[in-house]
Amino acid sequence: MPSEFTGKHVTVAGLGVSGVPAAKVLHGLGARVTVVNDGDDERSRAQAAQLEALGVTVRLGDGTASDSGSAAGLPEGTELIVTAPGWKPTHPLFTAAEQAGVPVWGDVELAWRLRGLDGRKPAPWLAVTGTNGKTTTVQMLASILKAAGLRTAAVGNIGISLLDAVTGEEEYDVLAVELSSYQLHWAPSLRAHSATVLNLAPDHLDWHGSMEAYAADKGRIYEGNRVACVYNVADKATEDLVRAADVEEGCRAVGFTLGTPGPSQLGVVEGLLVDRAFVEDRHKNAQELAEVSDVNPPAPHNIANALAAAGLARAFGVSAAAVRDGLRAFTPDAHRIAHVADVDGVSYVDDSKATNTHATEASLAAYESIVWIAGGLAKGATFDELVAGAAKRLRGAVLIGADRALIREALARHAPEVPVVDLDRTDTGAMLQAVQEARRLARPGDTVLLAPACASMDMFTNYNQRGDAFAQAVRELGA
Ligand code: ADP
Repeated sequence: MPSEFTGKHVTVAGLGVSGVPAAKVLHGLGARVTVVNDGDDERSRAQAAQLEALGVTVRLGDGTASDSGSAAGLPEGTELIVTAPGWKPTHPLFTAAEQAGVPVWGDVELAWRLRGLDGRKPAPWLAVTGTNGKTTTVQMLASILKAAGLRTAAVGNIGISLLDAVTGEEEYDVLAVELSSYQLHWAPSLRAHSATVLNLAPDHLDWHGSMEAYAADKGRIYEGNRVACVYNVADKATEDLVRAADVEEGCRAVGFTLGTPGPSQLGVVEGLLVDRAFVEDRHKNAQELAEVSDVNPPAPHNIANALAAAGLARAFGVSAAAVRDGLRAFTPDAHRIAHVADVDGVSYVDDSKATNTHATEASLAAYESIVWIAGGLAKGATFDELVAGAAKRLRGAVLIGADRALIREALARHAPEVPVVDLDRTDTGAMLQAVQEARRLARPGDTVLLAPACASMDMFTNYNQRGDAFAQAVRELGA
């Protein structure tokens, strides 16, 4: 079937999880695809061979993808660039594209444009972004939509990719979509049914250039919403983004709060999650959705995630009973406040996914007396506020990783009485020593919490491996 892509010269920037499927789909639609990729390692070569066998041109390691400012020539005849989300907007390839008037789409934009291309009715998107809590919220949302009997999937970073969801065999009534700030940056025409920005704290600023640019990219998720823009009452920046958005006539701003909800809000009243937005006469009425104890784990930030998910589901017309059933059926992914074991009356918790200070602040707030294991790559973060806020709850701290001195200095400034063990090693085995040191500092009733506030790549492949190393070390304690 001919499409707008037939015969079109498309350059795909980057192999990998988004580039390879994008190249395949575009090739399948008749486009003339060239993939450019800076890496020339074994994995790239294997992916390239696979694509070349289909007839896709692949340029490996030619400098086009490097961030070095080297001459980044647009491949001859390029009419469209489809980029992996991680490529920086300042990359010379995009400067060249702008000069040549060539549009740049991300993988999300491509997926959005391919909806319905096969003649099927496209499923609306309920979209979630935020600095933290995206994956959890999207999974809660999908669980609620499933409990309502809808054909749905959690897509984005987890589960199936957006491209597969819109081009695959499976038909959906609605999709629960996780979007990163990078993806939103490159998705100019995306129009969700309803969307939420869960929270906004500085992250990835090196990529976006400034906090304003980061917020603006996050805010794109509200553009063109049809039914509801769901925001966090406790985070005014999210409400400001709703105000700034150009939405469809009749689309509502709906807040979520851990306090008592006002009209047009979801919130918490006496241990219950309550909806005062999607009810008749919201000035007088409220609808009970679920009990706080239905949320797993019932930590404050996770209740906020549940309220945001409920807000999106209710915007889609889902019943209160389905919200409750969906939340009860939800189990969080690994490494997100996962209880590993109790050893000698001390609880060991793996929140390896807390890779920034905002997430770590939430998990430190969930426990009374903590031996905190932290450190890694700080990504430009500062730790004063985090440490000052948590000082009272810290029994001790064990620091690991390349940028641990930054946390040590913040502890010295704001929590000078807290004993600190500074592990001067960045090999993977350091985690076992960290857990042993934490055990020494802990008293019965305490929680040893791995919530590093940093990225893991200085010591580990990723946060999964870091969390697994922690769990393994805890098991060795118990053995
Ligand atoms: P994301 O997909 O945005 O990275 P996850 O659901 O994977 O979010 O959670 C990432 C980290 O953020 C975890 O450490 C988790 O404990 C923490 N977190 C989850 N929800 C929130 C929230 N609403 N506010 C702050 N931190 C959160």
